[in-house]
Amino acid sequence: MAVVVLDKICKTYGNKFHAIKDLSLTIEDGEFLILVGPSGCGKSTALRMIAGLEEITSGTLSIGGQDVEDLPPKDRDIAMVFQNYALYPHMTVFDNIAFSMKLAGKSKAEREKRVNEIAKVLQLETLLQNKPAHLSGGQRQRVAMGRAMVREPAAFLMDEPLSNLDAKLRVQMRAEIAGLQRQLGVTTIYVTHDQTEAMTMGDRVAVLKGGVLQQVDTPKALYHHPVNAFVAGFIGSPSMNLFEGRLENRSLRFASVSLPLPPAAFERAPGLARFEGKSVVFGIRPEDLYDSKLPSGSAFSTVPAMVKSIEELGSELIVHLKLDASRVDSGDPDAVEDLSGAANTVAKFEAASTIQLGQQIDLAIDASKLHFFDPVTHLAL
Ligand code: ATP
Repeated sequence: MAVVVLDKICKTYGNKFHAIKDLSLTIEDGEFLILVGPSGCGKSTALRMIAGLEEITSGTLSIGGQDVEDLPPKDRDIAMVFQNYALYPHMTVFDNIAFSMKLAGKSKAEREKRVNEIAKVLQLETLLQNKPAHLSGGQRQRVAMGRAMVREPAAFLMDEPLSNLDAKLRVQMRAEIAGLQRQLGVTTIYVTHDQTEAMTMGDRVAVLKGGVLQQVDTPKALYHHPVNAFVAGFIGSPSMNLFEGRLENRSLRFASVSLPLPPAAFERAPGLARFEGKSVVFGIRPEDLYDSKLPSGSAFSTVPAMVKSIEELGSELIVHLKLDASRVDSGDPDAVEDLSGAANTVAKFEAASTIQLGQQIDLAIDASKLHFFDPVTHLAL
């Protein structure tokens, strides 16, 4: 069983800088876990500590039940796939894949058998005699995977393995790696800054910010139940729109409007009722905003908005809007301030939408899909 357990792992550089703070995480046997977060959040540092390429400042790490924090990388039974593939340019694909077996003293027959098996899985059979320079980016990526697979490690560690590929190939390789991981069933920890990769590939996703684990959950749970405003804004594309408003008489007051909140909003956010008469941060995903054509059966309210720009993606429109804050009662001392989010609200509309640039629309909000956060701690209510 290759369960990987991180227990209160810390990494400090110099005296004070905490690149990773108290990271506790269990990656189950055969699981595909994605570590995701913005640049500098510490995800590569975490992966490098698991690999043994970076010393752990404090905490414990075990792989397959064995404490490994004092073992060198070669004794940890892991294989790492890097962003630059690290292939030997002078060797053929066969020799690149077979390299670690050769080092381990395996016979030629054993090497041929194993490399041929792997080449079949990775569809590299016709390329075994090529040198890396004569391969496409995707093929090189597959050779790098082959090099990792040949060792039959307890765990694969992958650090942004797709970042050197063009957009189309990245999408293709995303599916290939995820499929391969499922087929092999090897515990895999995969680092990326790309939330789409995280959401489409992993069994579970761990979101890091500033060296601190924010949430670890299935992609679906992260999307529907983010624990705080950071995760809410990081997961999903385009990002969730976040605003500040005030809860008054079970309505949400913001910009020029007062949105009545349906019971479903209070059920989704059990802590919301405590904020009666107070400010709250709230969020709505672009896909939960609509132009005038409303799906039936949901709790909608409308907000006046002006169309600032339209990105036509063929299958849908990404629309940038300015919510009309001009109708806020300026004489009202309790008027909610104009919102940072109001200046640029992003919506995803159906391709059939007929909205025009500069048009004033009644933007429909599905109030049952709102997310609410504490304005001070930013934790989900
Ligand atoms: P990116 O996506 O940009 O690669 P990351 O999330 O992988 O970012 P890390 O490379 O893990 O981030 O770095 C985490 C933090 O630790 C960063 O602020 C970085 O500047 C810092 N850091 C990394 N290596 C060192 C080092 N050797 N000495 C000092 N600080 C370091």
